Amino acid sequence: MTAASPAIVHEVFSSLQGEGPHVGEPMTFLRFQGCALRCRWCDTPAALSHAMTTFRVESPPRSWRFNALPNPIAAEALTEILAAFPDDTIALTGGEPLEQAAFLAEWLPTCQPRRRILLETAGVMTTALTTVLPFVDIVSMDLKLPSSTGMKAYWSEHTAFIEAAVRANKEVYCKMIVTGRTTPADIASAIHLVQHTAPKVPMIIQPASPTATFADAPASAQIAAVVQQCRARLPNVRMIPQMHKQWGVL
Ligand code: SF4
Repeated sequence: MTAASPAIVHEVFSSLQGEGPHVGEPMTFLRFQGCALRCRWCDTPAALSHAMTTFRVESPPRSWRFNALPNPIAAEALTEILAAFPDDTIALTGGEPLEQAAFLAEWLPTCQPRRRILLETAGVMTTALTTVLPFVDIVSMDLKLPSSTGMKAYWSEHTAFIEAAVRANKEVYCKMIVTGRTTPADIASAIHLVQHTAPKVPMIIQPASPTATFADAPASAQIAAVVQQCRARLPNVRMIPQMHKQWGVL
C-alpha cells in the first residue's frame, strides 16, 4: 500500500471542546490548513491559505507551550505526534479539513489506537465527506447563512451533505452562526432545510463571537428570537455560545 500524501497542518493541541453539544469534553484538536470560504466572522484567518511552511504542536500536551515543525507532514509522523496526546477524541478542524480528504481517507484508518473522530466542517464538500465518513464518528456541520457569512447561499450543498452524513448513521448536528446581520428569512430557509432533510438532527444556534476584525455579534434579544423561531418548527434546538472563548482556553 502506498503512503498517504502529506498533510498541511496548522496546529495540534489539547483542550476542552468549546462548541456544540460536546462542549466541555477534552479533545485533541488537529487543525488543518486551507479553506475556500470567507465567513465574515472567521476566527482562524491564519488557517485559510495552503501556504504554511510550519505548524505548531503543543509540547508537552496541555502545557500551552508549542514547538514548530515543518509542513507538509507525512501520515506516519502525524500519527507519532498524536500518540503523545492522551484524549480519547480527536477533533478534525480547520480551515476546512475536507480540503485534505485524500489524506484523511488514507490516514484515519491507520491511526492507532482507535479514537473517536469528530469532524468540524463547513458542510459543503459532500463528495469529499463520503470518502472519510467510514472513519468519522461525529459530524459537526455548519449551516452557512448568506446574511451571516456575507457569501452566497449553500442550501443545496448543505442538503446533500446532511443527507450523506445521516445516511451513514453518524452522529450529526448542525451549527448555525448568528450575527447582527442574520435575517429571519435565512433562518426560515435553514429551518426548512433541516425539517425536510433530517428533522431530528440537533440545531445548535451559535452567536458569532467578536474578533479583532469582526464586531457584529448579535444582541441577546435577537438570539432569543432566533431560538423561538427555530423551536417553533424543530424538536431539538439549543443556543450554545463559543465556551472556549469565555473560559480563556486554547
Ligand atoms: S468555513 Fe470556517 S475556516 Fe472557512 S472561512 Fe468560514 S469560519 Fe473560517
